[in-house]
Amino acid sequence: MPRDLSAAFAQQFDMLVIGGGSNGTAVARDAALRGLKVALLEKEDFGYGTVSRSTRLIHGGLRYLELFDFGLVREGLREREILLRTAPHLVHPLAFFTPVYKNSRVGVPKLRVGMWLYDLLSWDKSLPRHRFLNREEAAAAEPLLTTEGLRGAFVYYDGHVPMPERLCLEAALQAAAHGAVIVNHARAEKLQRTGDLYLVTARDELTARTYEVRAKSVINATGPWADEVNDRLVGAAQPELRRTKGIHLLVPKLSRHAVVMLAESDGRLFFAIPWGDYTYIGTTDTDFSGDLDRVRAEREEFEYLIRETKRVFPGADVGRVHFSTAGVRPLVRDPRARHEGQVSRKHRVKHHEDEGYPGYFSVLGGKITNMRAVAEETVDKAVRFLKAQVKPCTTREALFPGGMHPDMDRFKEELAGRYGAHGFARETVNNLVDLYGTVASEVLDLAVQEPELARPVREGEPDIWAQLAFSVRREWTYTTADFLLRRSSMGLRPGMALQVAPEVARRLGRYLQRTDEEVAADLAAYEQAVALMPGTPD
Ligand SMILES: Cc1cc2nc3c(=O)[nH]c(=O)nc-3n(C[C@H](O)[C@H](O)[C@H](O)COP(=O)(O)OP(=O)(O)OC[C@H]3O[C@@H](n4cnc5c(N)ncnc54)[C@H](O)[C@@H]3O)c2cc1C
Repeated sequence: MPRDLSAAFAQQFDMLVIGGGSNGTAVARDAALRGLKVALLEKEDFGYGTVSRSTRLIHGGLRYLELFDFGLVREGLREREILLRTAPHLVHPLAFFTPVYKNSRVGVPKLRVGMWLYDLLSWDKSLPRHRFLNREEAAAAEPLLTTEGLRGAFVYYDGHVPMPERLCLEAALQAAAHGAVIVNHARAEKLQRTGDLYLVTARDELTARTYEVRAKSVINATGPWADEVNDRLVGAAQPELRRTKGIHLLVPKLSRHAVVMLAESDGRLFFAIPWGDYTYIGTTDTDFSGDLDRVRAEREEFEYLIRETKRVFPGADVGRVHFSTAGVRPLVRDPRARHEGQVSRKHRVKHHEDEGYPGYFSVLGGKITNMRAVAEETVDKAVRFLKAQVKPCTTREALFPGGMHPDMDRFKEELAGRYGAHGFARETVNNLVDLYGTVASEVLDLAVQEPELARPVREGEPDIWAQLAFSVRREWTYTTADFLLRRSSMGLRPGMALQVAPEVARRLGRYLQRTDEEVAADLAAYEQAVALMPGTPD
């Protein structure tokens, strides 16, 4: 049945947010929690943009200490602590192993100062402080590591968000629970100003129908698309962003810990991050000007990461790349920065009042880590403009919808006990809690009511069909890509779920009453998305 958004857009909004990445969903969440009437448009899906191509860390950024960006590091470390507490099912502590070699650009003394500062700037943290391993301890901790010139290793802790796409989704869900109208697969196309109101034309990408959305303020939170969107909507004269590309490769497991490495060729810092039985390596940082919807990792970028990883892990099987990701950072332009890596990661919230667009704001830059703080600042500015009487910001304390239990390991135990009697495997329960947190019980209830939905999507893997049914009913899933890449992590494993994609598309077609042609088009779109994430051929 074709989607009809007329009723949803019939009302007038205080705020229209454009973009459903980390910034847009966090702004919608904060504004809705404060009591504003909010609408959000996302042209694809929540977390589709830069979020899904990130390193998936919730961190202060050890690297930014070298740029003397202490304020940025402190903000990240404070926000890390807030996310660990408010989204404990999605954000976890992760130990980072940092080997130091005789000829490292950053030696033991400099790194020791960095580690000490990182601890100092996170004085209020719940994570352990750093420690140093001598050469023997370091070699024993990471057996595949080269020991030639090894001096030892530092171990420190940061945050990991394996599914930042779901962090965006949950922010959007919480906004909707507080009255926001949230619409994915709908693009903001045009903007007019009539009196005190903005009229934004939204195009439903699923039906090609267009709607007028009326709002008193507009937030452009479109990440690397921000300049293009400003150009189209308000005819902004100057680009505000410097866009730099970063890629990751999924390779066979090479380390027990997350590992911080220094590239020999350019002195850049990059990571190996555990991903189930595999490892993500990345990232790169190169200026980008191209089609943001068709960005993909190129051969020389593969070669750079593989070469540099092999230097540190000579015995590792990094030549076998299962897939790659490529994304574009929306960095605030900084005329002083010559190299990509020198551009500050600080964000900026710009009010376009002086250009004749009062109440139109652009959110520029920012990291997933800082999404809440960026949102607080943005909503504060919008509230001042709107002169609205609203509740105070509560996002420092407000738990995400799946975070309603103080101890997720204990919650897993409780659920395993409760649903074990219905025959659910421990891995299924754990996987559901990792994705949905406390909402996992609702997915399990669905599978109990409809036993066919308790079957695994793919034999030997923990995901069950109830997740698809649930995500259509409750999580705005409209495409196979939404489900495989952003509601679950099935598409982010070797093989990219291509074997099960036809069945997912078929079932989705049944739920959404699609024609055979529509099902085929949805499946083809998934295959195209996967084609932009190439690995090495089998
Ligand atoms: C390689 C790489 C690694 C990174 N690693 C980390 C990390 O480990 N930790 C961290 O905190 N940060 C990291 N970042 C930074 C972080 O991912 C981004 O800064 C952040 O995701 C930006 O969020 P955003 O919401 O502004 O943009 P996006 O996530 O790009 O979201 C913008 C959204 O706007 C939508 N959109 C565009 N045009 C329109 C339109 N006309 N109408 C409706 N919607 C529209 C897009 O579809 C998109 O979903 C990394 C970035 C990169 C590139």
